[in-house]
Amino acid sequence: MGRYLGPVCRLCRREAIKLMLKGARCETAKCAMERQWRAHPPGAHSWRRRKPGDYGIRLREKQKVKRYYGVFERQFMIYFRTAERMKGNTGEALLNLLERRLDNVIWKLGFAPSHRAARAAIVHGHVYLNRRRLNRPGYLVKKGDRISVKPSERSQKFIRQTLGDGGPSVQTWLQLDAQTLEGVVAAMPSREDVQIPVEEQLIIEMCSR
Ligand code: SF4
Repeated sequence: MGRYLGPVCRLCRREAIKLMLKGARCETAKCAMERQWRAHPPGAHSWRRRKPGDYGIRLREKQKVKRYYGVFERQFMIYFRTAERMKGNTGEALLNLLERRLDNVIWKLGFAPSHRAARAAIVHGHVYLNRRRLNRPGYLVKKGDRISVKPSERSQKFIRQTLGDGGPSVQTWLQLDAQTLEGVVAAMPSREDVQIPVEEQLIIEMCSR
């Protein structure tokens, strides 16, 4: 699966929101969104651009969510089609699916400082799911899944270094045992567990066109 290799602070500036893509740095004054001279959309003369129309507003909402979770268009549309087939509110179902991605869970447990680092930790085999190695960052966790760290000195040391190194606080739907480095999915995530402000209805309107 492809991944974005360009400058990530640019994405935050484009979406005018802190997407927390650089781990601990995002909490410091070095964050581009904290510097007044950089906290504007990228590109020359960006302040001269016209106000976005209906399409532009909906597009930005979708891009914001895709960039936050680190998924590309094709994968995002697969989530959207799946959410459409689910019972209840499609927007909430879509966010619920994204929230259940294994890389997001690894980040929220504090095993990695960012989504990107979480993806690398999974692909490099530092993460076990139900005591078996799993190298798919897009795996959707289920209630009762146990996420642990590979029982090797190198992996344990690597993950312990990032525990408590900023990042989001562990949420109610996840339980963490910091001693054994094991997390449990105690419940399915709810709408309140999504930590960026997002109007999912705008995304649904955009994707349904
Ligand atoms: Fe975004 Fe983090 Fe860069 Fe700040 S430091 S602009 S939050 S990626």
